[in-house]
Amino acid sequence: GVASFDAVIVGAGPAGSAAAIELARAGRRVALLERGSFPGAKNVYGGVVYGRVLDELIPNWWTEAPIQRWVTRRQTMLLTPGQALTVDFRTENWGKPPYNGATTHRADFDAWLAGKAEEAGAKLLTSTLVTALRTDPGGRIVGVRTDRPDGDLDAGVVIAADGVNSFLAKQAGLYAEDQLANSTLGVKETLALPRETIEERFGVRGTDGVDIEMIGATKGIPGGGFLYTNLDSLSIGVVVDLTELGKAKVRPEELIAELKRHPSIAPLVRGGEIVEYAAHLIPEGGYHSMPTLTGNGLLIAGDAAAMCLAAGIWLEGVNFAIGSGMYAGRAAAAALAAGDTSTRGLAGYRERLASSFVLADHHKLRGAPGLLMSERVQRKYPAMLCDLVEGVFQVTNPQPKPGFRKLLLRSAKRHGVRLRDLARDAISGIRS
Ligand code: FAD
Repeated sequence: GVASFDAVIVGAGPAGSAAAIELARAGRRVALLERGSFPGAKNVYGGVVYGRVLDELIPNWWTEAPIQRWVTRRQTMLLTPGQALTVDFRTENWGKPPYNGATTHRADFDAWLAGKAEEAGAKLLTSTLVTALRTDPGGRIVGVRTDRPDGDLDAGVVIAADGVNSFLAKQAGLYAEDQLANSTLGVKETLALPRETIEERFGVRGTDGVDIEMIGATKGIPGGGFLYTNLDSLSIGVVVDLTELGKAKVRPEELIAELKRHPSIAPLVRGGEIVEYAAHLIPEGGYHSMPTLTGNGLLIAGDAAAMCLAAGIWLEGVNFAIGSGMYAGRAAAAALAAGDTSTRGLAGYRERLASSFVLADHHKLRGAPGLLMSERVQRKYPAMLCDLVEGVFQVTNPQPKPGFRKLLLRSAKRHGVRLRDLARDAISGIRS
């Protein structure tokens, strides 16, 4: 007969595993299905997880999570081909509990979190591809079809946590728009370097680490660059607008190669041996591009629901996946307990998200993708600010110093920046 579960969760990424933990702890029979040979096997991201969201799920998670380094130094760089203006921040506070950001490999992190779901009682089925949702004649989702010999599974509720451009959400008709139009492409290389070399170059010790984001590093294609330290490797990559990348006819690996040649980046990555190259889509549309979150017997969470806060250089996805998965698990458990997993019975999911950071942060930052990907922020401001600072520090003897006001107006004019726009964008940037 067909195996039957209270909940079937598709995808053992952070969203799926968080949902599975909640449902299993609520005493439900849970199947967590993953196409990879183990959770995280193929999962791609930049490299930094913001773990505080785990406080509720796994108290003191930092004592056991497979972390590479704790981010205690964060740099934002504005680049032009030959210049770099950097804001460099470090704090001891992020190097001790409860921490802030951490670098970790997804193959380690996802496997660890899925292991927590198994510990709670969920049944993890790997190398299992879900090929379709199964519906009854009334259109209610009653389970999934898989590529296993004993193929079908029955479910009281299905949670689609299958990632960006979710095939399940599409099949259920929950996407109003083409998700690809709202996606960026992220590409990444992992570069092996000895641990001592990393510590010297980046000025960190022990398990302290660095997170660097760059604007102006993508050959005029809207997006951003990143560079993170692992214990004995670096993660370097770019995130770019998919449509503009196509128009520019540049290969993404050329963008990384160019970034690695930048005079401020080259000394940091020199000698690093490429041990991995990967590419993946990122849902970047933000608040306004989120799909319908519930179907008849179905919830969607994480990247599948576009709950990734991404705006070129800004990448928070794993924390939102965990948060939305956790609330999906709770809403599903409540609906199962009440005996109603219809669209209406599952409506508590949206309410839980709305009263949490998941939707609150997305709402607050709904303007960020547009601003960060605009030509002003991408091209004009980095060039203008680099020139301004170069002018301020340039000693012009025997000419007298030009004065700040003159330098400001000159650099603004040279790069077509209207100071009114700059002030307005600065205010809306600070607001978000
Ligand atoms: P995923 O992690 O995509 O997991 C989906 C899972 O479902 C996968 O394990 C997949 O194998 C499985 N699956 C899919 N379809 C099926 C199917 N039909 N049957 C069975 N299993 C299936 N976020 C951060 O927090 N920090 C960062 O530094 C960061 N950098 C990024 C850099 C890049 C280049 C990219 C691409 C993304 C980055 N993100 C980052 C975003 C982050 O990776 C995602 O937001 C996050 O992984 C979403 O988690 P998820 O569980 O929703 O989906």
